[in-house]
Amino acid sequence: MSESRPVVTARLATSRVLPLETTDLGTLDDLVDLVSAGGLVVLSGAGISTDSGIPDYRGPDGTRRVEPMTYGQFTGSSEARRRYWARSYIGWQRFNAARPNSNHRHVSALEQAGYVDAVITQNVDGLHQAAGSQDVLELHGSLDRAVCLTCGEVASRASLHERMTQANPGFMERFAAAGHTVGSQWGEQVRPDGDIVLADELVASFHAPRCLVCGHDSVKPDVVFFGESVPKTLVDESFRLVESAGALLVLGSSLAVMSGYRFVRRARQVGVPVAIVTQSATRGDADASIRIHAPLAPTLDALGAALEP
Ligand SMILES: [Zn+2]
Repeated sequence: MSESRPVVTARLATSRVLPLETTDLGTLDDLVDLVSAGGLVVLSGAGISTDSGIPDYRGPDGTRRVEPMTYGQFTGSSEARRRYWARSYIGWQRFNAARPNSNHRHVSALEQAGYVDAVITQNVDGLHQAAGSQDVLELHGSLDRAVCLTCGEVASRASLHERMTQANPGFMERFAAAGHTVGSQWGEQVRPDGDIVLADELVASFHAPRCLVCGHDSVKPDVVFFGESVPKTLVDESFRLVESAGALLVLGSSLAVMSGYRFVRRARQVGVPVAIVTQSATRGDADASIRIHAPLAPTLDALGAALEP
């Protein structure tokens, strides 16, 4: 493919104007060849979980639809943490009920068949593991756990939810009663981190969880917030995986944040082929040797069918 491709610009999370390749490069057959060579590392983003009812932060045009709470805001005040936990208390219940979809199952099947060595995911929903994937590196942590920022105590999110229920009798009922004014926010406003939009009056009545060990209200979900760094050990391990991979396959990520994009860049630097299957244009498109802008599910269905013995 040597013809010149149209280059457009789009504004992404970093507020920098980036060139984006918007045309496909290569075909499904090329993708099948790449995957069948094995040694694959999958890098997955929010787009792989939208079919499970967990919405993307970004619309198909790559622009941000909701503004997540930042690390600075969360650590900056008790009020912000109360707001986070009140919204998360509601949102997590739906989040926790989400089940893997065919995309997660395809990735798991590719691992079992020996094509995929590891999955690096930007998601915090645990759905790769729920689908049976064994080697999963959670770049942004997991909503399954919470950690105290004061003393380091780790608690399961399920136990935390139980404590919040006890500390906030009737909260769900008050949320449901307000439902007619907030419309269908339960279903439509849940965010990839389990957070939702919630009225101020409800937030003000919420008792945020306190650490069982030190008593501080500094309990934080064990996920990487916007404005927070991915732990260095995880980054280093991910770089090692990418550098030794046969290829890097990006599924359902716009690569808008550097925490994911840097692995695409590293792959390109060390000569590891990059394939991208994502509905929208991505920041890594210029680095990819195969890119297919199409819905994930039918593409992975076709890939799975082509690889069947
Ligand atoms: Zn503590």
